[in-house]
Amino acid sequence: MDVREVQVDGWERVLVAREGAYHGIVALHSSALGTALGGTRLWRYPSEAEALHDALRLSRGMTYKNAVAGLDAGGGKSVILAPERIADRGALFRAHGRCVELLGGAYITAEDVGTTPADMDVIAGETRHVAGTSAGVGDPSPYTARGVFRAIQAAVLHRHGSAELRGMRVALQGCGNVGRYLAAELAAVGASLVVSDVDSARAHAVADRVGAAVAEPDAIFDVDADVFAPCALGGILRASTIARLRAGVVAGGANNQLRDPEEDGTRLAERGILYVPDYVANAGGVITGFAGLNGHPAEWASLRVEAIHDTVLEVLRGAEAAGVLPHQAADRVAEDRIAQARAR
Ligand code: NAD
Repeated sequence: MDVREVQVDGWERVLVAREGAYHGIVALHSSALGTALGGTRLWRYPSEAEALHDALRLSRGMTYKNAVAGLDAGGGKSVILAPERIADRGALFRAHGRCVELLGGAYITAEDVGTTPADMDVIAGETRHVAGTSAGVGDPSPYTARGVFRAIQAAVLHRHGSAELRGMRVALQGCGNVGRYLAAELAAVGASLVVSDVDSARAHAVADRVGAAVAEPDAIFDVDADVFAPCALGGILRASTIARLRAGVVAGGANNQLRDPEEDGTRLAERGILYVPDYVANAGGVITGFAGLNGHPAEWASLRVEAIHDTVLEVLRGAEAAGVLPHQAADRVAEDRIAQARAR
């Protein structure tokens, strides 16, 4: 395998590797808090530069997510540049496994966009530094959804002085793995739901199960609601959609909800909309994965998922006190934890 080490300021190790059709990047951002965790993304990147940019951005994001979640875990991520046609999927993941192995356990990979437990099984043939195999802890989505639910309660408490969700209207975008579990949690405490999905059968299945109304995918932004919960794609909060929102709180499970964190974070604040930083709200899955890796019992993970409530409150109160945006306050919580670990 042809492996090139790239020096990037602020990252501990970045490897770019090629072997046959395999072209992958492993980015270890920080191990200040412990072994770095972060999945492998398989994506059609137009160039290596764009793949590298994504790997750097995502690996740094994992450092912050793990730090705010209170895990003794650092951040890393890897990407595989998908060839135009994948002739031998196994070969790609075997090569990737060997690349992960080169970091000697400083980074543990798992599934991400475009990869499956079966791919992790292939990686496991080359390295033991992999989670999310088919024999592993299973679907993290119910835990992610539970954490998002606790984040919504915290945001509603911060905004209205009570965490009572009975009668609150929630507009939920995306009825996939996270969205459908979140819908069930919200319905169970008496929230009233409007759901949407580009796959209308999914939206109707969730609506039938929890007694929700269904909105057309694009109309979800205009729903008169107390909470808007994005659980589909990233980048959905931008000038044109923020202007349409009628909810006072945005809290959901989707990653990278703000198209541009500074600009769109400011736009939300200017409209008086309280934004719960996505990576604080959606850490339930990584918490469970970490627990599985380290042999912690289910109660250990459950306590930490429930604690997302208090972390969100800390972030929102900290943002208000410091006059900064919520995602900036979340970054500070993460940076303080990392700095403390480095000082020890
Ligand atoms: P998923 O693919 O199961 O569900 C996403 C759903 O969104 C699908 O049903 C899809 O049809 C729908 N969708 C896509 N575009 C839409 C649009 N424009 N409007 C309405 N619906 C649309 O994915 P998931 O596992 O539920 O993850 C959802 C989000 O949460 C993603 O951003 C993911 O990165 C993030 N996330 C998931 C987890 C987890 O544990 N699954 C953990 C952390 C973050």
